[in-house]
Amino acid sequence: MISKKPNPPLRRILLIFLLILPITASGFPILPVSAQSATLPVYVVQSGDTLYGIAGQFFTTIDALLAVNNRSIGDTLRPGDRLYIPGLEGLQGELTTDYVPLGASLRSLSRRTQSDPASLVRLNKFTSQSELFVGKKIALTTTESTRDLQTMPALLPGQSWMELSLLMGQNPWSLSRLNRLDSPNTALPQDAYYTHSAQSNPNSLAIPGITSLVIDNLPLVQGGTFVLKVRSEQPVTLSADLAGVKPVFFTRDDGSQIAFGGINALQEPGAYPLTIEVTTGEGTAYRFDQWTIIGSGNFETDETLKVDPETVNGENISSEDELFHKIVTTLTPTQQWSGIFQYPTKGDGCVNSRFGSRRTYVGTDKVYYHTGLDIGWCFGIDVFAPAAGTVVAVLPNQIVRGNSIVIDHGLGVFSIYMHLEDFQVKEGDQVQPGQLIAHIGNTGRSSGPHLHFEIDINGTPVNPITWLYREFP
Ligand SMILES: [Zn+2]
Repeated sequence: MISKKPNPPLRRILLIFLLILPITASGFPILPVSAQSATLPVYVVQSGDTLYGIAGQFFTTIDALLAVNNRSIGDTLRPGDRLYIPGLEGLQGELTTDYVPLGASLRSLSRRTQSDPASLVRLNKFTSQSELFVGKKIALTTTESTRDLQTMPALLPGQSWMELSLLMGQNPWSLSRLNRLDSPNTALPQDAYYTHSAQSNPNSLAIPGITSLVIDNLPLVQGGTFVLKVRSEQPVTLSADLAGVKPVFFTRDDGSQIAFGGINALQEPGAYPLTIEVTTGEGTAYRFDQWTIIGSGNFETDETLKVDPETVNGENISSEDELFHKIVTTLTPTQQWSGIFQYPTKGDGCVNSRFGSRRTYVGTDKVYYHTGLDIGWCFGIDVFAPAAGTVVAVLPNQIVRGNSIVIDHGLGVFSIYMHLEDFQVKEGDQVQPGQLIAHIGNTGRSSGPHLHFEIDINGTPVNPITWLYREFP
C-alpha cells in the first residue's frame, strides 16, 4: 500500500497546475504519459510493496515514480499494478526483484535473464562482482523468452560443450548463443548455463547430481540461525564453512540433507565466503564459494555487573565451560522437535536481559555477551520444555550456571536452562513440549531469581527468539 502521507500544499498546487496545463497551454512540451514512458521498463507491483521500497530498489524518488506513472500520492497501490520505472530508459522487459541465491554470478544472472551484464550493473548500481552477496535483494529483468529457462546439466571436467549439447539433443551453436558465449570452447565446468525447457527447475547451482541447494533464514545476522538444505539425485557427502561455522549435515527420511548453523554473536558484521564442498559417490569433489552478508544483531550493552569474583575467574570456570561444550557438541541425527518452540515459562515476555547484549563484570576487563534470554518469574516459577527432546544433562551446583539442564532436540540443536531452583526431570528422560522440567531459582552466577534460557547449535549460542517465532526447518 502507498503510505498515506499528507499532500504537501505545494505539490497539490503543482498537480492542479499540471492538470490544467495541457488543456490551456497548447504546444507546451508536456508529453502524454504513454509516449513519455514508452521506452521505460515496467515493474509489476508485488504484495507487500510500498512506493518507498520500490523507489529505493530502483534508485529513484517517489515524486519521479508518481510523475512518470501519472499517479498521485493518495492513490492505492495494488499487487499486479504496472509501474514505469524512471531513469532506466532503454532497458528491455519487465523488472522483478529477488534475493541473490546460492551459486549466482553476474555472468550466470545475465545468462538467466538474457540481458547483458552492463544492464544488471546499471539496474543495481553494482560497483563490483563481489556485491552479489547471498541474500542481497536485487533487481532483474525478465522477458517472455526467459521465463522457461532452466539450468543445464553441468559440464563435467574434461567434457566439451559440443559433447554436452549433443547429449542434450541440442545445437551447440544456438545453445552457446543463448548462453552468451563467444565460442563453445569458453564454457566452464561448474558454471551455470541455461536451456529452454517446459520443465521448471529453480536450481542455479550447476553441480552434477545436485537438484537443489538452498540457504534458509536470510538475511543472516550475528547470533542468527541458518539452514542449508540439499537435494541430490544420488548420495553425496557435503561440507560447508561460513566465517568459521561448519554446519553438520544430516540425512533425512526423504533422502535430502540438512544442516543447521549458528553465527557467533561476536562475529564482525560484513561479507564472508560461504564455501560448500560436494563429493559424489565416485569420489569427484566440487567446491564453490560465494560471498554472504552477515548483518548486525543490533545488540545492547548492559551495565557492568557486580558478581562474586569467584564466578568470573577463568581457571574456575574453564572446566565447567569444557563440560558444557562437550555436551552440546555431541550431536544426534534425529530431529525430535516439530514446529515452533514454545515459551519455557507460563506467559511470554518478562525478559530481564536479551540475547547478545554486551556484558562486563566488576574485576575483569573482558567483554562477554549474553548467550541466552533471561526470563523473570512474572508468570510463576515453572519451567517447561519448549519442544520434544532428550534430557542429556542434569547438573547441580555449577559455578556459573548453577543448577542446569540441557535438552538435545537432535540435528545439533540443544536448549539449556540455568540458575534453576530444582530438577523435575533426570538424565535420559524424553520430554514433550509443555512438560514441567524445573523451577526458576537463583543458583550460580545470578543476581536474582530468573531463568537463563539458551539455544545452542553445534555448540554456538544463537538468538532463542528466532526459534520462538518461526518454524525450523
Ligand atoms: Zn542469562
